[in-house]
Amino acid sequence: MKDYTVMHILELYHIYKGMDQQEKCAFYQHKCEYYQFFIKLILVMASFASLTYLVSDYQLNGNTILPTLIPRTFVLVPLFLYIMLEPKAESYKAKAFLNYLLLNLIVFATIWSVYHLEIKTHFSEGATIMNFIFLMCCLGARPCYGLMGYGVFFAEILISHQFNHYENLDVILSLNVPCCVGIMFVHCILNLGEFERYLTSRKLEHALITDPLTTVYNRHRMNQLLENNQIISDQEQISLIMLDVDYFKAINDTHGHFAGDQVLHFLGTTLMQEIPESGTVIRFGGEEFIIILPGFLPEEAYEKAEEIRVKIATSEESPFNFHVSAGVAGYNGDFDKAVKAADHALYHAKEMGRNRVFWEREFQA
Ligand code: GH3
Ligand code: MG
Ligand code: MG
Repeated sequence: MKDYTVMHILELYHIYKGMDQQEKCAFYQHKCEYYQFFIKLILVMASFASLTYLVSDYQLNGNTILPTLIPRTFVLVPLFLYIMLEPKAESYKAKAFLNYLLLNLIVFATIWSVYHLEIKTHFSEGATIMNFIFLMCCLGARPCYGLMGYGVFFAEILISHQFNHYENLDVILSLNVPCCVGIMFVHCILNLGEFERYLTSRKLEHALITDPLTTVYNRHRMNQLLENNQIISDQEQISLIMLDVDYFKAINDTHGHFAGDQVLHFLGTTLMQEIPESGTVIRFGGEEFIIILPGFLPEEAYEKAEEIRVKIATSEESPFNFHVSAGVAGYNGDFDKAVKAADHALYHAKEMGRNRVFWEREFQA
């Protein structure tokens, strides 16, 4: 259980403030996707629940529901449109807009009904109840959207006063202003709690696909790329490099396992520095790596592999003198075939004496 303190909340706020706009959007999208289903259910339920006010209308209007029947049932129109449009809205901004629009239309239907009530003072209770729905809607939105939603809510109250002439406008406002302040405060605090949950889930996702020793991706990431069809060769040429440390067992045997780990760490960080941003490095096995290079012809990948090989063999920052061998292959739609071809090429590089790169056209997938 997390031990929350004011200091911790301030710390979270500091991290949140330091994020750029794109990262903040990713967080709000994540939060919206998590809560939207619940908010939708609550709004649907609230729309139907607002129809039950026909009972109190019946009591207030002298045993008839006719005057408020149309305004009360009007809420079904925006509800129907909401149910149609909400699944089409993808961004958190569009979803929040629709949520607050429906919420404010429920308020509008209530105000319209109050217009037809003989006793209008009970609007203070009706309006206060709306705060529950504001509280729920805030779960999936940015705090500033909540504030805008409340802005429209108070505008509706004040404008409707011109027609409804509430005898107790002061009470309506004195009940709702503290609710608004309280809910906006809760909104901001829950937002930071949600932000922490988001940061934790991002760290876990990163840990799941990263190899802690070499800092490059692991095979989970490779499977993820394949499952999500993120390796597609239709538009561009993609090449693979399969790279393996030469005589690595000897390094372990001579200098110890820790020295071997240092070599792997050095190799991983060097590979990350050497490949372009579009590339992906994956630790395929113990001391074996696959480098996926989108936009590279096999001959260009060969050049890159050769560059990497020389850099590693001659690096002065390397913890131990060691070298690597690599095999290159082109990818034409079948990843397994391309991996086999790169592995085959690597085998040839080893056969030819190690510390070299091998690529031959006949091994292309
Ligand atoms: P070759 O030149 O043919 O590639 O020979 P090699 O010695 O590099 O290959 P071999 O497959 O015989 O040895 C790989 C070694 O890598 C065996 C295993 O103990 C070691 N190894 C695998 N994972 C790790 C690791 O995470 N850390 C360390 N230190 N060693 C590892
Ligand atoms: Mg090896
Ligand atoms: Mg090996």
